[in-house]
Amino acid sequence: MNPNRRQFLHASVASMALAAASGNAFAKSGKSHPHVVVVGAGWGGATCAKYLRLWDPGIQVTLIEPNPHFISCPMSNWVVGGFQDFDYLVKSYDNLPRYGIQMLQDLVIGVDADKQVVRTRGGRRIRYDRLVLAPGMEWMTETVEGYEDGAKAQKVMHAFRAGPETLLLRKQLEAMPDGGVFIIASPPRPGRCVSGPYERACAAAHYFKQHKPKSKIIMLDGDIDIVSKGPMFKAAWKEFYPGMIEHRPNNLAMGFDHREMVVRTEFEDVKGDVVNIIPPQRAPRLCKDVGVRNDALDRWCGIDFVTYESTSVPKVHVIGDPVLSNMPKSAHVSNNQAKICAAALIEILNDRQPLPTPVIGSTSYSITSDHTSGSIAVVMRYDPAKKAYIRQPEGGANTRHSELDFAYGRAWHENMWADTLG
Ligand SMILES: Cc1cc2nc3c(=O)[nH]c(=O)nc-3n(C[C@H](O)[C@H](O)[C@H](O)COP(=O)(O)OP(=O)(O)OC[C@H]3O[C@@H](n4cnc5c(N)ncnc54)[C@H](O)[C@@H]3O)c2cc1C
Repeated sequence: MNPNRRQFLHASVASMALAAASGNAFAKSGKSHPHVVVVGAGWGGATCAKYLRLWDPGIQVTLIEPNPHFISCPMSNWVVGGFQDFDYLVKSYDNLPRYGIQMLQDLVIGVDADKQVVRTRGGRRIRYDRLVLAPGMEWMTETVEGYEDGAKAQKVMHAFRAGPETLLLRKQLEAMPDGGVFIIASPPRPGRCVSGPYERACAAAHYFKQHKPKSKIIMLDGDIDIVSKGPMFKAAWKEFYPGMIEHRPNNLAMGFDHREMVVRTEFEDVKGDVVNIIPPQRAPRLCKDVGVRNDALDRWCGIDFVTYESTSVPKVHVIGDPVLSNMPKSAHVSNNQAKICAAALIEILNDRQPLPTPVIGSTSYSITSDHTSGSIAVVMRYDPAKKAYIRQPEGGANTRHSELDFAYGRAWHENMWADTLG
């Protein structure tokens, strides 16, 4: 470790110990202690809170999250495929308070941006100097007629937020008879983890191949083709699961009849035994209420790409999946954006200029079986003249799936957890 970094870490730990001893997590030396409130302790929010405190212990940080545990979407398809226990996806938040983060288990229900106050379901009113919104996604279930009724009857789920739906989907696949049809209906871009549905097809096919070899998977794809790692997925389907996965592009799910178990698209009605419809997504309602969901389609949040401050509401920053950008909507990107936002906030709160050309790096791994995967690495740098993140030549792709890539993917996940929650 470089000596400056070691000194910095020692100083942080010492100041945190002092604060803990005094009974006040923020009772440290310094003139002012600006307060940053972070909403949502997912890949983006938890990373942002942690790095704010790591890089500037003079900043007070409150992190608000309703769930008692962190549950990872990456690797949740392993659970769907039956080659990983659900518990593997669940991690504790216990390490975060050690950085001096004040964690509140609560749900943010409103923000008064003029008064700089956050309101929670638990009745709290918390004042902020800067607010970071990292609440993930909301599913536009109203775009699929009958989806809500089907979800209430537990006949359809998206399972694109890891949790009870992940387990329900797994149980339904286990209960499906051999020779049954599993429908996966995916939305067009942009959305969370665009390779996730195809990866899910591989996970399910891997299970069917061993236990229900007469079964079939029909992919109703709202996009024009497989938009991420397409050649790799198609090659894997041919090699590992010949005849089992049928991909029907340009076939957006528009309705679902849960009594008949029929998915309706613009072109056809398709009957399944297990139905997994992933509706299009948008930034959650909270973002709309705060005024940061501000694009023409009322879906995403426009931000300044250097500071991640909203283009419509001052002192409110947005990171992760809700952001309007050409960046992938992934855990890795949320984690990177969180660090850029944290670094920018530290500069702003110390009256300095943030770095004008931030860089993000993201690797996306997709399994093709319980021991193989392929991956794409992307590097993007912000170009102030173009006002956009531009893809750099440093990225690369393992378009041929392999066991080595699978090992890298597992290590990537462990590292991401350590970086975000460790
Ligand atoms: C099947 C699948 C596989 C995937 N695989 C990968 C992968 O391999 N690699 C990769 O990089 N990405 C992957 N992703 C994508 C990744 O999971 C998301 O892009 C990532 O979770 C986004 O992070 P986030 O912090 O923006 O949102 P989230 O992780 O969704 O976190 C948002 C948090 O905010 C909380 N919250 C919401 N509203 C409020 C509120 N009002 N008050 C307080 N808290 C609130 C939520 O409870 C949640 O904890 C995958 C996704 C899926 C579904």
